[in-house]
Amino acid sequence: MTGIVVLGSTNMDLVAYVPKAPGRGETVTGREFRTVPGGKGANQAVAAARAGGAVSMIGAVGTDDFGGRLRATLDGSGVDTDLLRTTEGPSGTAHIVVDDEGGNAIVVIPGANGTVDHLTPGDEGLIATAEALLLQLELPLPGVTAGAEAARRHGVRTILTPAPAQPLPPELLAATSLLVPNEHEAAALTGIADPHAAVEALLRQVPEVVITLGAAGSLYAARGARPVTVPAPHVRAVDTTAAGDTFVGALAVALVEGRPMPAAMAWASAAAALSVQHEGASSSMPYRVEIDEAAADTPVSG
Ligand code: ADP
Repeated sequence: MTGIVVLGSTNMDLVAYVPKAPGRGETVTGREFRTVPGGKGANQAVAAARAGGAVSMIGAVGTDDFGGRLRATLDGSGVDTDLLRTTEGPSGTAHIVVDDEGGNAIVVIPGANGTVDHLTPGDEGLIATAEALLLQLELPLPGVTAGAEAARRHGVRTILTPAPAQPLPPELLAATSLLVPNEHEAAALTGIADPHAAVEALLRQVPEVVITLGAAGSLYAARGARPVTVPAPHVRAVDTTAAGDTFVGALAVALVEGRPMPAAMAWASAAAALSVQHEGASSSMPYRVEIDEAAADTPVSG
């Protein structure tokens, strides 16, 4: 049984920590440099695998040194990478400058991710056996749409994180079962700042929506049902990078296990709250026992 398939990006994050980001034509001396395996697809795959899902990743890494490390990170978290392609050329990279006020500026170069604009017959075969397909928008839209449409043909639930925010083609929306934007993405997609109003607009396009609200938790709405808000646990956040990806990975695991949406959201909130208490993206993602323990301390409401 395959369980969860992620069709998405792998990036090496190249992070420079500086007191103040350089302006055009300026050179500054930074404090520290780190290379951190990331990409929204890989992050969701690692989150879901650590949360106890049987996870396979479809995407591409390059033939550079980063490619091997990106693949090894997924393997090391128990993600099946048999269908992760290796394509001639560089892996995806994200060049991130973080200043002392916590602000950041990012350049993403898709590299190998840019080649995933179609599915192979093997990809479609794997998607056909899945219980859920996780998608984001860091691959070319034709690739994302092909994945969603293949899932729909085989009756597989699709969970789309619409990030980075951009207009969505109608074919992709038509093949989306559950849309999971954060507040900013929901506002960008609808032009409506209030998430409670934005959710109504999104429900005209997809049958189910979860909007993540940072420390305020998450909001679920489905056609013909009353919206439900699930609070986030109160924790001291030190680094919220990939909180949303941790949330989605854990949410997918809980849904595949058949939990009702509010309970699945509460469990995913426990996972995301654990991740924000530690630095790092995939390195901060919790394992199932930790999530279960944290979730036991947080009563389900809504
Ligand atoms: P993104 O990481 O995509 O910007 P959010 O900021 O909405 O998305 O965070 C996703 C989820 O992570 C939230 O719904 C919540 O469960 C959890 N989370 C984020 N920030 C915090 C926080 N400060 N305290 C507790 N949980 C948080």
